Amino acid sequence: MDLLHIQLAALQHQLSFVATEPIDWKFYAQACSWAMTLFESYLLLRQYPLYSKTAPPPALAAHFDETTFRNSQLYGKDKAQFSLVAGLLKQAVDSAMLQYGLYAWAWGVSGRLMGRFGYGTEYEITQSLAFAGILFMVSSAVSIPLSVYQTFVLEEKHGFNKTSPSLFVTDLVKNWVLTSVIGGPFLAVFLYVFKWAGDRFVLWLMAFLLAFQIIMVVLYPTVIQPLFNKLSPLPDGDLRSRTEALARKLKFPLTHLYEIDGSKRSSHSNAYFFGLPWSKHIVIFDTLIKESKPDEVEAVLAHELGHWYHMHPTKLLCISQLHIFSILALFPAFLHAPQFVRAFDFPMTVAAHPPTMVAFFMFLMILTPIEAFIGIMLNIVSRRFEWEADRFAFELEDRLGVSEMHDMGDRLGRALITLHVKNLSTVWVDWLYSAYHHSHPTLVERLKALEGFKTKRASEEKKEQ
Ligand SMILES: [Zn+2]
Repeated sequence: MDLLHIQLAALQHQLSFVATEPIDWKFYAQACSWAMTLFESYLLLRQYPLYSKTAPPPALAAHFDETTFRNSQLYGKDKAQFSLVAGLLKQAVDSAMLQYGLYAWAWGVSGRLMGRFGYGTEYEITQSLAFAGILFMVSSAVSIPLSVYQTFVLEEKHGFNKTSPSLFVTDLVKNWVLTSVIGGPFLAVFLYVFKWAGDRFVLWLMAFLLAFQIIMVVLYPTVIQPLFNKLSPLPDGDLRSRTEALARKLKFPLTHLYEIDGSKRSSHSNAYFFGLPWSKHIVIFDTLIKESKPDEVEAVLAHELGHWYHMHPTKLLCISQLHIFSILALFPAFLHAPQFVRAFDFPMTVAAHPPTMVAFFMFLMILTPIEAFIGIMLNIVSRRFEWEADRFAFELEDRLGVSEMHDMGDRLGRALITLHVKNLSTVWVDWLYSAYHHSHPTLVERLKALEGFKTKRASEEKKEQ
């Protein structure tokens, strides 16, 4: 422990320039965020011409009729235009907020608001909650109109929207309530641990964040998700018996098998699992069940269980712990630098003893380029995991010795194609755009990998003969 703290102190020493050098942090934050937005726009412009291609890639030609392909291209084009405009608009607003000192203003307003209720600046956590509330409202003012457009114009136009205006409003209200009921106490404890643990906050905060993630794994399916969707036990039948048999053979601790009414909001479809190590739930979208045959859904589940078998969620959790650790380890240098907060227009009275919330918020802002890089690295890891899960599904026959699973790869391929076609997902993808945005390999890449497994198996069988 002490060794760790010595290392952390050495790191802070390295970063001591934050408190001493006159750096224009606001300019740096502006430059970074514009660079990111322009880079994302550039990626969209690389991707955009691909939506004008008139035929799908050869590997998919047999699965797309002309109309479906045209619709998928139009849908992609509309989404790309929307992303471009929305991205630039959000950045323009964020940039103006930063330039004109809105964050300092929001901190001042929250202080005055507190004063009305008789609380002084010594109630830093309460003021931080009010500050977060104000920023949340400001950002909602931009994101809600965009979300309305996306749901009722864009998705509606392409036949995916199933959300009624009243459902949209109820969802929004539920989200707000949840954000205050869960986000508020979370933030309060987070800030409290900072104060309470002093210089040794890194490990304490990580323990708190880990505990919070575990609590959410329990709360999400039991309390949060039922607020938005109906989860009903999957009815008896072919799919249920297939899934239960698969789980039993793999020793997957399946306790609940649900069908979810994803079609309530959208026609997009999926399947996933979650839960604690000893008790897992599998959830299948009603849309997936409708669109694919039970043996194909079984292959999708085999892929999902591949993630479990290879412990992908645990590995991702470890990576995220490392990520959190690095962020927290860098932070104190910025927390103890009045001129850092001062650069964002906070008055000297505030900057002299920077409030944790304020310093952390500004600190995250200057981390954006590093975070984007980490995002690309995580995509690489995640694609590797997808490939492993596909291979797991393909190899189930050998693993379990069940000969009727010999065509698992073909079934998975068919299910992926159906999902792709029904969702009108993009078929032509620019490699750089994909590297930045996609956590999954493209459909063509996945089908090619499945073919590759098949060829490899065929040549191995030949050798044995
Ligand atoms: Zn997957």
